[in-house]
Amino acid sequence: MTPSIVPTVKFNDGNAIPIFGLGTWKSKPGEVDQAVKDAIDIGYRHIDGAHVYGNEKEIGNAIAAKIEEGIVKREDLYIVSKLWHTFHNPELVEKGCRRSLEDLGLEYLDLYLIHHPVGFVESDELIPTDANGALMYSNVDYVDTWLAMEKLVTSGLVKSIGISNFNHLQIERILSVATIVPVTNQVECHPYLSQKRLGDWMVDRNITLTAYSPLGSPDRPTVKPDDPDLLADPRLLPLAEKYNKTPAQILLRYHIERGFIVVAKSVSKERLRQNFEIFDFKISPEDMKTLMSFENNLRYFKMEIFGVDHQDYPFKAEF
Ligand code: NDP
Repeated sequence: MTPSIVPTVKFNDGNAIPIFGLGTWKSKPGEVDQAVKDAIDIGYRHIDGAHVYGNEKEIGNAIAAKIEEGIVKREDLYIVSKLWHTFHNPELVEKGCRRSLEDLGLEYLDLYLIHHPVGFVESDELIPTDANGALMYSNVDYVDTWLAMEKLVTSGLVKSIGISNFNHLQIERILSVATIVPVTNQVECHPYLSQKRLGDWMVDRNITLTAYSPLGSPDRPTVKPDDPDLLADPRLLPLAEKYNKTPAQILLRYHIERGFIVVAKSVSKERLRQNFEIFDFKISPEDMKTLMSFENNLRYFKMEIFGVDHQDYPFKAEF
């Protein structure tokens, strides 16, 4: 890798990931191309994507342009994608992966995650529904999906594999059969949802936590006017002033202090730069305690539409 100011986190499989990455959910095809180019110019090397975000082709074009320009080489970049629900059938896992590789124009992914434990039937639709509009779940066990994910490592399509939105009981089931231990579990995490218990449980098993929606995802499609606005929490301002940083930079640095990997989305060059400037200060243990005290179990993404009554719905477990 070319030298980067972003520290890396070493995974249980020996590979290393830049601790901070660019989120790309909701980055529209017309704007994500420029955002990825700007991010690479600023120094981002880790890009978090997914088939379901519908923008992997544009991300791939931006990556190709920056490689062509000689700004980065493929091996300098750390590219993440996620297996969508309609590919949970073990026979479809490679197809799901190849679809992302093709869209991105890459020969391998650095990290591939099962996006969510609940699977849907095979379909060209991202969210397949029956004639009555009901979601069509598959009865595939995510443990079998995991065993098919392992084959992607063996065949060289991906370097590391992990999961997303899994609770600890589900991870335990995977561990009971896995030949390859998941390297990370990507979950919603910020001061309102600190994931303390899940994080501690995973540390004991050498599984890292990747934090998504670290700024509270203010552009989330499900936003309601009365929802608590994390970035505007008045308790953040004194901390931001104390460190001469912005509330967003405090929210991002909070994960670095905890050793968590974190991905934040922006399509603004100014905010991309701002979010990247989190490696020149540290939050004191006392101020980290203050941030940890914001915990109120507020999950912005309950993902109920993916089957709150489904046996594999992940967010009913304690952690
Ligand atoms: P974030 O918490 O990253 O928030 C993104 C929003 O914050 C955008 O509206 C962005 O606006 C704004 N923003 C960015 N920087 C700043 C700043 N410095 N000051 C003020 N506002 C700012 O939300 P996401 O939900 O996008 O989460 C990050 C990434 O995590 C996703 O993009 C995706 O890659 C991943 N993710 C994974 C999920 C999973 O199920 N595995 C679920 C959800 C997210 P603007 O773009 O205009 O700057």
